[in-house]
Amino acid sequence: MGKAKTTDTDAGFLPADVPADVPAGADHKHPAKAPGEDAVWRVLLPVPLAGPLDYGGPPDLKIGAVVEVPLGSRRVVGAVWGPAEAGEAAVPTARLKAIDRVFDVPPLPETSRRFIDWMAGYTLAPPGQVLQMALSCPAALVAEEPEAVVVLAEGAEAEPGPPFKWTAARRRAVDQARDLPAMPPAELARQVGCGVPVIRGLMEAGVLATHWRPKGVAPPRYRPDHRPADLSADQQAAAATLCATVGAGGYSVTLIDGVTGSGKTEVYFEAIAAALAGGRQVLVLLPEIALTAQWLERFEVRFGAAPTQWHSRLTPLARRRAWRAAVEGTAKVVVGARSALMLPYPDLGLIVVDEEHEPAFKQEDGVHYHARDMAVTRAFLGEIPAVLCSATPSLETLVNVERGRYGQVVLPRRFGGATLPEVAAIDLRADPPERGSFLSPPLLAEAAGTLARGEQVLLFLNRRGYAPLTLCRSCGHRLRCPNCEAWLVEHRLGRRLVCHHCGYTRSVPPACPECGAVESLTAIGPGVERIAEEVAATLPDARTLLLTSDHLRGTADLADKMRAIRDGEVDVVIGTQLIAKGHHFPDLTFVGVVDADIGLGGGDLRAGERTFQLLYQLAGRAGRESRPGRVLIQTRDPGHPVMRALAGGDRDSFIRAELDERREGHMPPFGRLAALILSGPDHELVAHEGRRLAACAPDLDNVLILGPAPAPLTMLRGRYRERFLVKATPETDLPAILRGWLSTIQLARNVRLRVDIDPQNFL
Ligand code: ADP
Ligand code: ZN
Repeated sequence: MGKAKTTDTDAGFLPADVPADVPAGADHKHPAKAPGEDAVWRVLLPVPLAGPLDYGGPPDLKIGAVVEVPLGSRRVVGAVWGPAEAGEAAVPTARLKAIDRVFDVPPLPETSRRFIDWMAGYTLAPPGQVLQMALSCPAALVAEEPEAVVVLAEGAEAEPGPPFKWTAARRRAVDQARDLPAMPPAELARQVGCGVPVIRGLMEAGVLATHWRPKGVAPPRYRPDHRPADLSADQQAAAATLCATVGAGGYSVTLIDGVTGSGKTEVYFEAIAAALAGGRQVLVLLPEIALTAQWLERFEVRFGAAPTQWHSRLTPLARRRAWRAAVEGTAKVVVGARSALMLPYPDLGLIVVDEEHEPAFKQEDGVHYHARDMAVTRAFLGEIPAVLCSATPSLETLVNVERGRYGQVVLPRRFGGATLPEVAAIDLRADPPERGSFLSPPLLAEAAGTLARGEQVLLFLNRRGYAPLTLCRSCGHRLRCPNCEAWLVEHRLGRRLVCHHCGYTRSVPPACPECGAVESLTAIGPGVERIAEEVAATLPDARTLLLTSDHLRGTADLADKMRAIRDGEVDVVIGTQLIAKGHHFPDLTFVGVVDADIGLGGGDLRAGERTFQLLYQLAGRAGRESRPGRVLIQTRDPGHPVMRALAGGDRDSFIRAELDERREGHMPPFGRLAALILSGPDHELVAHEGRRLAACAPDLDNVLILGPAPAPLTMLRGRYRERFLVKATPETDLPAILRGWLSTIQLARNVRLRVDIDPQNFL
């Protein structure tokens, strides 16, 4: 597979097309002079402004330096974005404020600065807001207090004179001090198995010495050859291709397209080994922290040390150390959620995006960005390879492969001779569950048979809680969220009604709030809690585990439950999408999907693609070892292309049909799309502002503006919502057109505008 070309422009979405206009470093220009010998610098600040502000500062500042400056009555942290050019300073130099402080951290590298500028341009976010994601750990800007560590004293070979006597412990301590990374005296004593006085004695005799070093953890030492897997022929071929892209350097994107259980992880571990052998940093993006426990274990087995983690649930200390290690380049492997992409790595040599199709890579607050797409851009700007990995690649990625922009390696078989599961649909119209139940007779029979063979069952329903709707049997009233256009979901676990959009909760009322009828409220439809209840009634001897985010107390609890499943302490697992992906359970042979139709309604562009991906990944949990797996999918529409693709195991014809439909509708990846959401507490005002915005919309041949229309979720968190959908041809610079349009209008203060380029969520 060759490297992807970057010059052709016929494609749908490919962020790497656009960076032609990214400003290179402005280092060569002559800086303006401030009074005295100071220079004038442009400093980017984490505030919603169009660009950097001018400040006076020392002339020898590095571009990218992280600084603190006064802003109004505040002091804020920003980064030097370049010198203000002579004559261009916006502020008369006499009134120029000065940079207060320069932090002792490496300046943001040029690639990071270009990436921030590019991302701001693409997403229409203020550059400072993107910068803030890179500087997301202010505590890390100040080094930890230094600590004393033990090192061999200079000339330690020399034998100390009497009264010094060598003992076995003293010799061991010296050996360890030579062989291990430097550590504090108490830690060294623990490693040696002696008391601290032994270490002190050696210091007094001048054999060992102390050295002050910044506190923190010693950087892990990875061994690229620690324990390589014994790869199958398919895996070897795939790994060789990836390692070649790493060896060649330069920008490329390669997709690992491999069925579930084919060993994609083992394959990209080889690419990581190659990048590590070359001494460069590696970033691995995973969609969910929930997936990482097993991944971390495997990584450590392979490389002999744990990677640096970056995600929102780190302790403040771990976060601070991870940020510094990443930025100083001592963290050679960083694994994290999408925000890890924003760290200013000085020497990134490879990016891996695992489960690249995952919706979780899209950030939908603050800066709206898709971490997979931005990872490709980051690879382009840094001139390094990227590896995307999935059993169900996104259509965007598949189209880029088809066009030769991305390379591809294929793993068509499961590792170790395991077969792919047999998938069949259950037509709920022909085989309905008993009244008031949700599990059909064929599904229950298969579950019972599986349990009788001593194997495990997984029942999947992508709906938390007990019932999605509570209805009054007397008057038909439905219990709704007061802040959102949504029903309240009953959660028996907490005996509450909960809004899944805004988190509003209330107790279950004793009577209908509308007509006052008592004992008239009825649960309609199933959530996982209700399925668990049904399993308890129909399979009373099975040990069940209900697994949803509501039933978890943190990642340790999740890891513990995953272990319990792996160790066979559970017979039936009932869960939401939390369990659909990534996990490897050796005894799990039957997967039952309670309601496969849930995700197909609602007119979402990607509803079919998403449902296919989710259910295919879920099916991939069955029969991953020697015993074959079986999957039954309950549906009211067995003829639906998604169901046919799953039951026939025919991914390719499904994808072809989806692509044809998208091509016909000029939808991504064959067209560009943006969503503009106006929202505010005053319905009339939001609608009015929508009409005003529509009135100044550009009239262009290559752009189609739909709306304003009430968003599908008309009210969310107490705000009314109006939406525009903007469609454009692939070669259109949609961000630029939107920028032009939006700059012509000042919206009312109570109305917020959210711009979402390449929207994934159509609510
Ligand atoms: P995928 O990500 O493609 O679903 P994994 O990488 O999780 O697959 O691999 C599936 C299982 O097979 C894992 O338990 C993994 O450890 C094992 N496996 C894959 N390749 C090898 C190999 N070459 N040697 C040993 N075990 C392997
Ligand atoms: Zn709500």
